[in-house]
Amino acid sequence: MSQVGTAGNPLRVAIIGAGPTGFYAAEHLFKHTDLVVEVDLYDRLPTPFGLVRAGVAPDHQKIKSVTKLFDRVAQRPEFRFFGNVELGKDISVADLHDYYHQIIFSTGAQTDRYLNIPGADLKNHHPATDFVAWYNGHPDFRDYEFDLTQERVAVIGVGNVAIDVARILARTTEELATTDIADHALEALSKSKVKEIFVIGRRGPAQAAFTTPEIKEMGKLADCDIYVLPEEAQLDALSEKALADSADRGTARKVEIIQSYAGKESTGKSRKMTFRFLVSPTEMFGNEAGEITCMQMVKNELYATDAGTLRPRATDNFEMLDVGLVFRSIGYKGVPLEGVPFNESWGVILNDKGRVINAETKQPVLGAYTAGWIKRGPSGVIGTNKPDALETVEQMITDWRNGRILSPTHPNAADVTAFLDSHKPDYFTYADWEKLDAIEVAKGEAQGRPRVKFTTVEEMLAAVGKETAVAA
Ligand code: NAP
Repeated sequence: MSQVGTAGNPLRVAIIGAGPTGFYAAEHLFKHTDLVVEVDLYDRLPTPFGLVRAGVAPDHQKIKSVTKLFDRVAQRPEFRFFGNVELGKDISVADLHDYYHQIIFSTGAQTDRYLNIPGADLKNHHPATDFVAWYNGHPDFRDYEFDLTQERVAVIGVGNVAIDVARILARTTEELATTDIADHALEALSKSKVKEIFVIGRRGPAQAAFTTPEIKEMGKLADCDIYVLPEEAQLDALSEKALADSADRGTARKVEIIQSYAGKESTGKSRKMTFRFLVSPTEMFGNEAGEITCMQMVKNELYATDAGTLRPRATDNFEMLDVGLVFRSIGYKGVPLEGVPFNESWGVILNDKGRVINAETKQPVLGAYTAGWIKRGPSGVIGTNKPDALETVEQMITDWRNGRILSPTHPNAADVTAFLDSHKPDYFTYADWEKLDAIEVAKGEAQGRPRVKFTTVEEMLAAVGKETAVAA
């Protein structure tokens, strides 16, 4: 047989996870003109695009336009999409070894970091990531319920996810009704009784993880005043010095914006959002029904580590915050994939520059690669995954050139389709997705919205004329 990577014997690559990283990895692979490569991109959902569809806030449509690039990648004849196919359930790593020379795991970070304080298991305390997935219409979260009869809500953490959650809670029904927020969320939020939102940062304004445009946007909400306690808006001496010593104009600008909200009088808007700094939740308390009623917080001070970063340290100054609903937004976390070496505490696949590493031998696992959040952890914006995927693809190309690839027994596209036809006949192709996409967009146009999302797998399958496969 001819050499792998040629027209007669293409390099066959499976990518698991059709988020931005999966598409970027496919794009990088296709750029190698001396390589003939065929890519099959799998996702457990029928729909592609991962967090672009299920994570990016519905009122941030511009960010979602990156999918145009992914559409172009998908038009390549060497590219196929297999949605509604779950690794570990519908197909195994061993099955993939039968069909592919190389496998990339780009499954993202599917859960969140837990807040380990007393009372954290009370009702009405949720991961922000659940709320995000719910309002974005992720099928797994469609039936989740959040008690929006509560008037006072806390969001713990000051990253961009916390900002998204706080902003969606603060938007009016009219603002939300022009977005592609899931219908069930629009309906629930239109009845929301939320009046006060507290966004809780454990460090100071100069260390807030959210970005400048996001905090600036808060000042433009139609019916929510933004407030910062004047004493918490001021930088402590260590932050002041660190900022003065650095050339970081971005952070200085962000601090200026935070300070512009300090002590602001109410403009009579019906909701109020207060950003708190240098406080950490220490305990949650509940009523007889086991629902949160209030949260104890401790005032922090900052200290410099040996590495020079400023970390929070608790003082003995406590306070109580009355809240009936709490979202923790302290970071996403990756979940292990069966048979793939994993670092539990970091929530990432063990890897070296994208090559999956055997936990004992520390040697690369033949044919196995990783990219995106499951490779490096949940940080960075969508575009950060492009260079990340490139780094992985460079290792793959080196390994291909050196003959370090798997030896599949069935290295051809037709055998994969035959496998899926017999094991998971209701898989989604890219053409199916395009059909679904067109229906969603047409429904949206009729309502002056970007799209109206399907939010169950059954509805998605029915919309494109597929039947749900009966489990064997
Ligand atoms: P993040 O940016 O890492 O923020 C996590 C926040 O949680 C930080 O404020 C962190 O504080 C805080 N935190 C962590 N552990 C805590 C604890 N035990 N108690 C209290 N606070 C704690 O994570 P994210 O908000 O989940 O966002 C993930 C990535 O997606 C980020 O890179 C983000 O920029 C990106 N994203 C971007 C957009 C956008 O571009 N619009 C939207 C959403 C997400 P410390 O800093 O003190 O650790």
